[in-house]
Amino acid sequence: MEHNFFIYNTLNRRKEQFVPLNEPFVGMYVCGPTVYGDPHLGHARPSITFDVLFRYLKHLGYKVRYVRNITDVGHLEHDADEGEDKIAKKARLEQLEPMEVAQYYTNRYHDAMAALNVLPPSIEPHATGHIIEQEELVKEIQANGYAYESNGSVYFDVEKYNQDHRYGILSGRNLDDTKDASRELDGVGEKRHQADFALWKKAQPEHIMRWPSPWGDGFPGWHCECTAMGRKYLGRQFDIHGGGMDLVFPHHECEIAQAVASQGEPMVRYWMHNNMITINGQKMGKSLGNFITLEQFFTGEHASLTQAYSPMTIRFFILQAHYRGTVDFSNEALQAAEKAYERMLDGWHRLQSLKPAETTTAELENYRERCAEAMNDDLNTPIVIATLFDACRVINQVNDGKATMTQADIDELKDVFQTYLFDVLGLRDNAAQGAGVDLTPYRKAVDLLLEIRKSAKANKDWTTSDLIRNKMTEAGFDVKDTKDGFEWKLK
Ligand code: ZN
Repeated sequence: MEHNFFIYNTLNRRKEQFVPLNEPFVGMYVCGPTVYGDPHLGHARPSITFDVLFRYLKHLGYKVRYVRNITDVGHLEHDADEGEDKIAKKARLEQLEPMEVAQYYTNRYHDAMAALNVLPPSIEPHATGHIIEQEELVKEIQANGYAYESNGSVYFDVEKYNQDHRYGILSGRNLDDTKDASRELDGVGEKRHQADFALWKKAQPEHIMRWPSPWGDGFPGWHCECTAMGRKYLGRQFDIHGGGMDLVFPHHECEIAQAVASQGEPMVRYWMHNNMITINGQKMGKSLGNFITLEQFFTGEHASLTQAYSPMTIRFFILQAHYRGTVDFSNEALQAAEKAYERMLDGWHRLQSLKPAETTTAELENYRERCAEAMNDDLNTPIVIATLFDACRVINQVNDGKATMTQADIDELKDVFQTYLFDVLGLRDNAAQGAGVDLTPYRKAVDLLLEIRKSAKANKDWTTSDLIRNKMTEAGFDVKDTKDGFEWKLK
């Protein structure tokens, strides 16, 4: 594939040209949600970031197998391997079957992703559907001497691993740092070293999510699922593994150790991480009272929101920042994004009705190349957006009669918008309407109605022309007559 696509590899701390193992195929794994609560902003950023990567790789011509998992067991409360399983706890509190909890929130997650125009992955494996693969992984690690059984649980021997390989290559931590970071709440007296992490946990009598294993009834440690499922669906070595920066340590560090300890070599070539989202400068958290679900953003029903924000406003807002930069949500910032995206769509709509001229006097640039260069530079979506705004300025000049464009130039611009704004950035032309509907047919129907009004006016049929205008205003449309015809938008 001829391209200069560079991505920042967290592992090597630099931008590297993307060269897949097995062209034209690309294997890509992204850590999906733990399905025990409503999808929130923290879910939106990684899903949108890697959706854009998925779309761009396909745009470059690759055949991408995108695996994004559902964590429905083993993610314990205190992040490491301590505390109660998050889904089991919810099931206990609400008297539900754990899979009922997992299914309910999986459905909610899918709904929110569809609203944000995030494409579904090629495979969406569930951790509970891959217990056997995870047990096999634990057995391999144990057989190679990097795990030990203790009181019905199995732990990864980090110290032993660190003697033969290096633990901490992704996060840049060394073993002593990680010891200080890990909390000793559970597994006291079971682990040999504080930094060791659970590969398999013994189920206590009250545990409802449990499976038989060579070590007794229990459940897999959280880090196992991604190594086991990544290998099953993408092979012993694959191209890209992504997730939020908060997963670098311990989750992804542990994944690397598990892969090397089981198969003797790493599995992943490019590690990619999106930065986090803050709300009014603060980390989002239930205790801070700034925990806002995606649904609350879409409906505006939250004390700290002054209005509802459409899914495309959220998507546009996230893509206005580079994925490795921080994003801070506030009502002001979201309102600015809403207006900006409206301006972008105004440009796109005007482009549809521009009248072609014999020559182009407008000062056009090579927008297609600028967009491609920006995407090739580690998915620089803010530059793509800025480039399309430059194009909008020229479209407005032509629309105002201050410059001209040939049909060929108009068609080229339409294709650049279609390719980069809609196909690659995955934005949709329905900012005002919210979730999930393709409005193209409706727009065409409105255009048709206004064409009828235009010919009624030409025939001096004022009754028909006024009727259409008044009824459309009543229905919530803002119709404006222009030099060559009309413009409309929803009020
Ligand atoms: Zn994972």
